[in-house]
Amino acid sequence: MHNTLFNEKQELSKGQKVLKIAVAHGDGIGPEIMDATLRILKASGANIETEKIELGEKVYLSGNSAGIDKNAWDVINQNKIILKAPITTPQGKGYKSLNVTLRKSLGLFANVRPVQSLAPYVKTHFTDMDVVIIRENEEDLYAGIEHQQTQDVVQCLKLITRPGCEKIVRYAFEYARAYGRKKVTCMIKDNIMKLTDGLFHNVFKEIAAEYTDIESNSEIIDIGSAKLAAHPERYDVIVTSNLYGDIISDIAAEIAGSVGLAGSANIGTNVAMFEAIHGSAPDIAGQGIANPSGLINASVLMLAHLGQTKTADNIKNALLTTIEQGYHTADIYQEGTSVARVNTQEFADKVIENLGQKPAQLQASKISEGNGVISISEYNRKKQKQSLVGVDVFINWQGNNPKEIGEALDAIDSFKMKLKMITNRGVKVYPNGLPETYCTDHWRCRFVDSESTTDGQLVYNELEYENVIALLSRLHNEGFQVIKTENLYEFDGQRAFSLGQGE
Ligand code: NAD
Repeated sequence: MHNTLFNEKQELSKGQKVLKIAVAHGDGIGPEIMDATLRILKASGANIETEKIELGEKVYLSGNSAGIDKNAWDVINQNKIILKAPITTPQGKGYKSLNVTLRKSLGLFANVRPVQSLAPYVKTHFTDMDVVIIRENEEDLYAGIEHQQTQDVVQCLKLITRPGCEKIVRYAFEYARAYGRKKVTCMIKDNIMKLTDGLFHNVFKEIAAEYTDIESNSEIIDIGSAKLAAHPERYDVIVTSNLYGDIISDIAAEIAGSVGLAGSANIGTNVAMFEAIHGSAPDIAGQGIANPSGLINASVLMLAHLGQTKTADNIKNALLTTIEQGYHTADIYQEGTSVARVNTQEFADKVIENLGQKPAQLQASKISEGNGVISISEYNRKKQKQSLVGVDVFINWQGNNPKEIGEALDAIDSFKMKLKMITNRGVKVYPNGLPETYCTDHWRCRFVDSESTTDGQLVYNELEYENVIALLSRLHNEGFQVIKTENLYEFDGQRAFSLGQGE
């Protein structure tokens, strides 16, 4: 079955119906920049109608620890599109992050952040940077699964899933095709994390092969982010996992000088939310001097998402023209470059005046050059044979000589399984470890039933889970403190676990 994301919205945007969106005016400078943005949307002829929702400080302080009440949830569930001004999270414990709540509850799997250089009108070393960072929003180290396992060691689980990778990578290619972009770059660290980042990379290669009209390449995240910081003009769309995306989207906004100007989208299968990336700026709230560009950019992303790509280009080009003409709010005002220091509403008036104009110097918006349609196919899980071939038993042991624990474990009658190796922080320390390797109290002991073939390849024999239970019971009876286990599997005969460093 083919599930077309946003198709309903695309049709609505053809003018049969006016589309209702939920609008949160936010806190601090929120109401000022939202008024400016809504005036521009109205003047542009955008085919939308707004419905106000209450989110943020007032709701938090009324005793709602999530910062969002039932009425707001009802409106969001009905309208599916949220335009949100920044909110203030009150100081003190017990207040949950509203953005995390919205992202997780609504399944907003993609974070989209376009960053464009506006030099020389906004200070930056880069002149023709125009990059979109598409970050996976739900998985990776942000699943929040952390444990302390021994006195010395804590862990955070990095969860990467095939459906999660397929959805974000396909979204990136569909985004490129929908909005006139030419190239998608994948950033990963699969030279080290061969299974997790390896999966992301493999899915990228599989899906890239379906989009022959879009150029694609992959880079290791460390050198990739360094190159992004030095030559941002070489990038078009970047797709990456949650943590890397979090870091590089801030690098991109920072080097473009546009932290105060960028908008972002959080896209889910049913709901999408659009906002500026800055906060509620309480230091200048109520003065009417805030720059509304971040929220205007967010509204441009929203219109593109709704299929109103010509209106999106029109607003974006009017915004660029206004900045180019030198009408600048206080935060970007520069003697010599700016023509006038304008307040929030004067800036919006200029944008409205410039609707229909295109910038002369800055790169004009090209959203409507694409096909405007984003479609994501449903995940289809293929059947694979999963065979248990061993277990990694993690033991809390306070000794420091690997030979001692190794020989004790060698002596264990473990039914079918034999100790294959012990690692400490991933490095093999038994058998034949190096005395220089520093050891903590966290020992990963691998038990398998394996044989070497004549050409030196290791073949793992299939095990029953009862073998693992019997081994664990024996270890426990011998006084070892097992703090966790990981089963070792093969999928369709392929090893699906990493080897120890030095194994
Ligand atoms: P901030 O982004 O609000 O402000 C940082 C600095 O940038 C301030 O000096 C501010 O005056 C300036 N600034 C920000 N936006 C501007 C604009 N549009 N025009 C001109 N100047 C602007 O960050 P902060 O001070 O760390 O956070 C303030 C509040 O915002 C906090 O309560 C925080 O939790 C919240 N916040 C909300 C969101 C959100 O709703 N998505 C995001 C970030 C921070």
